[in-house]
Amino acid sequence: MTEIISFPSQGSDAAAVAAALEDLKAQDADWARGRTFSLVYALDESHQQVLLDAHRRFAMANALSPSAFPSLATMEREVVAMSLDLLHGDPKTSGGTMASGGTESIILAMKAHRDRARATGQVAKDATAGIVAPTTIHPAHVKAAELLGMSITLVDLGDDLRADPDAIAAAVGKDTAVLAGSAPCFPYGVVDPIEELGAIALQRGIGLHVDACLGGFVLPFLEDLGHDIPPFDFRTPGVTSMSTDLHKYAFGPKGTSTILYADRTLRRHQFTADIGWPGGILASPTLLGTRSGGAIAGAWAALRHQGRAGYQRIFTGVMDATRRLQEGIVAAGPFQVLAEPVMSVFAFGSDELAIFDVADHLGTRGWSVDRQQDPDCLHLIVNPTHVPVVDEFLADLGEAARQARPAAEAGDQRALYGVTTRIDVGDDVMGSVLDGLESRYDLPVDQETAG
Ligand SMILES: *Cc1c(COP(=O)(O)O)cnc(C)c1O
Repeated sequence: MTEIISFPSQGSDAAAVAAALEDLKAQDADWARGRTFSLVYALDESHQQVLLDAHRRFAMANALSPSAFPSLATMEREVVAMSLDLLHGDPKTSGGTMASGGTESIILAMKAHRDRARATGQVAKDATAGIVAPTTIHPAHVKAAELLGMSITLVDLGDDLRADPDAIAAAVGKDTAVLAGSAPCFPYGVVDPIEELGAIALQRGIGLHVDACLGGFVLPFLEDLGHDIPPFDFRTPGVTSMSTDLHKYAFGPKGTSTILYADRTLRRHQFTADIGWPGGILASPTLLGTRSGGAIAGAWAALRHQGRAGYQRIFTGVMDATRRLQEGIVAAGPFQVLAEPVMSVFAFGSDELAIFDVADHLGTRGWSVDRQQDPDCLHLIVNPTHVPVVDEFLADLGEAARQARPAAEAGDQRALYGVTTRIDVGDDVMGSVLDGLESRYDLPVDQETAG
């Protein structure tokens, strides 16, 4: 198919547009058959239909105005209330908003903590407010620091690959506004010692953000099912905010997350308003202006459709598949699961094999497995789509292990998030990564224009 690089002079009929979309879609990752281990969190076809139906009904509606669209304001309030209930917020004092994803939720939480610290004088107005977090904290926190003019200190982990509370406490300075920890962290699926971090936050009079983007809609149901879940939610003293993604394990549509506050007076510092604009006062709760009604309705529909019992059923199956994968992986070759993952996200590595060779050989067998660095390892996010393919994956992993070179023969490599093939970045890592981002937007120069 020729890429379109100029504006079409004539329109195409609906069938031609649909056919072109199907052609494009055919190039994409085959997530519905469980061949990929990140990016898409999928349930079955019937859940999908509920989402799409809700999305379609509200796709053109704009959550920018609660008075024009009280439906969306109600759904947003209810999604926040349901999320707070799950995570043991106090209905009388807690609050939150929806956001377009984990990254936006985290940026908003960091802004709220920065502005509260300035408002109370805890951090001087002209000082750089700081974030302190373990190295495993999601890069959205680094992005937030960059955008908000904050500093971020990333602290080495303990031997259990969780945040090291003593090292975190030692990194807190007079301008630190907020600590952050994960429940669980993306790389290893372990929950940081939130109780200890909460104690530090209380003692220093600062905030603690718990990034539960991955676990917020999993850990409560695992607790229901009798799993041993370390404290991570609003029951834990010192936790001031939590981010939890609806478009991950709540199986909502892409573009949905919640940002929650133990005390809703902190939420006020998330908001912005331009009271002098000739267009009228523009008050904005989140980063975005116009917000898709489709995303909000889709997330609301997902929570309503599954309910607690639905998610318990889903995660019973997912955790069974996770256990079979973890046991099967250590049986399939000289592999170890890293640390002690609490849920359905984990990493495995090998002291003996070139682990990225293993990923390459899995790749030729049709499996897209993510690679991580320092230490080099492979990463799995287990979903309902994987339940039927565990045995097939393990058989192919055994073959891949037999074909991989010994660890000593592996060259130097870098792992790029969301890229499941080998990447050669050379010495200027930042430069070549940014070149890569630019090339994604390069237009084909020597092609005919279509349309
Ligand atoms: C996915 C994720 C984020 C970022 O969320 P996006 O929705 O991709 O913006 C933040 N933290 C953790 C732990 C995550 O897994």
